[in-house]
Amino acid sequence: MQSVIRLSFPLTIALAFGATGASAQDASQAAQVGRILASPAFKAAAAQIDREHDRIVDEGIKLTEIPAPPFHEETRAREFQKMMQAAGLQDVKIDEEGNVLALRKGTHGDGKVVVVSAHLDTVFPAGTDVKVKRQGTRLLAPGVGDDTMSLSVLLAYVRAMQAANIKTRDDILFVATVGEEGPGDLRGVRHLFTKGQYKGRIKSFFSIESGSVAGITNGGVGSKRYRVTFSGPGGHSFGAFGLVNPMYALGQASTEFSRIQVAASPKTTYSIGLIGGGTSVNSIPLSGWMEVDMRSESPADLKRVEDRMLRIMQEAAEGENFARSTKEGKITVESKLIGDRPAGSTDVNTELVQFAKAAVEAGGYRVAYQWSSTDSNLPMSLGIPAITIGRSAPDRSGRSHSLDEWVDVEKGPMVKAVTTSLSMVLAVTGME
Ligand SMILES: [Zn+2]
Repeated sequence: MQSVIRLSFPLTIALAFGATGASAQDASQAAQVGRILASPAFKAAAAQIDREHDRIVDEGIKLTEIPAPPFHEETRAREFQKMMQAAGLQDVKIDEEGNVLALRKGTHGDGKVVVVSAHLDTVFPAGTDVKVKRQGTRLLAPGVGDDTMSLSVLLAYVRAMQAANIKTRDDILFVATVGEEGPGDLRGVRHLFTKGQYKGRIKSFFSIESGSVAGITNGGVGSKRYRVTFSGPGGHSFGAFGLVNPMYALGQASTEFSRIQVAASPKTTYSIGLIGGGTSVNSIPLSGWMEVDMRSESPADLKRVEDRMLRIMQEAAEGENFARSTKEGKITVESKLIGDRPAGSTDVNTELVQFAKAAVEAGGYRVAYQWSSTDSNLPMSLGIPAITIGRSAPDRSGRSHSLDEWVDVEKGPMVKAVTTSLSMVLAVTGME
């Protein structure tokens, strides 16, 4: 700040140069997107998407009606693998973790790939009714938007590129990931980047999600989740009155946890989502547990809340041991990490984000940069350029993670959003 005041004149020049640099870069990305949009090949691809709109919707419905709860994505994965092969890709396989990998070769042959992905899993447990209901142009079903229709859009990209004989500089690896949602803890994308055959070969990463195509998620909110269990000796509620009670420790811990102060920016949050335990109404319980979720845009702030939470749990156990009798045994606490999503971000000035921005603007939408927690978190945390983009027109999807989840598939807006997202992918992968 001081240097701004003292060096106002040179700084103005520096800013002016900075601005010139940025807009020149802007212009070059916009020019490349413009060239792609104007090309006969892209127009042919867009026409293909327009022609087969009904098919995109039908395949989205078909996949939605194959349940894919966390850790049980295999039936949907096999169907998607078949559909990818039918779309015209030969090299389609399911990796050790369960991700579907479909390779479309580029011309460059440098062994690197750009990943374009959507996730197979939904948050809904086995047994959830996943039959799709139609209300006009609206489809309603658990998981239809998040993220099943995106799988269908990946197929549409491939068919459109095949039909228009589009060549790209980079190899494109289309991936349907497992384990994006809560309990999966990004297991699919983690495998892809840290263990699978493409480890070390991924240049950049797209995740396609249910939101508006105008929203570019270039910030990955980190999260930590714990299951905390307080255990004690238990006993009769009347006969053993006076013994330590794990529920009191749990209650005390909840209250203290609820009082943690966090910054509004970088946004940092916490919550207790599940609680349970006990033996019977007339017993001092053997145990009580809760599951807590903590998130932050900043790794340091997330660590601070996590450390405080762990201390609170310990202190609550000690407090209960101090307050009541431990003659039959003490309260102990176990805090088990059940979810760990790394935080990260992709700079707005990277080529990936600038191409996406140029494509959004060329489509006539207004860009909104966002923070979220998606498959992109993992590559972001490794310093690999990654963004999560939408495949819907603005306000054409909603109620994710609820039983009345919906997407609107009205042809005009949907086709336009899908072709806009395809133009991003083609700009980044160097359409020739
Ligand atoms: Zn999702």
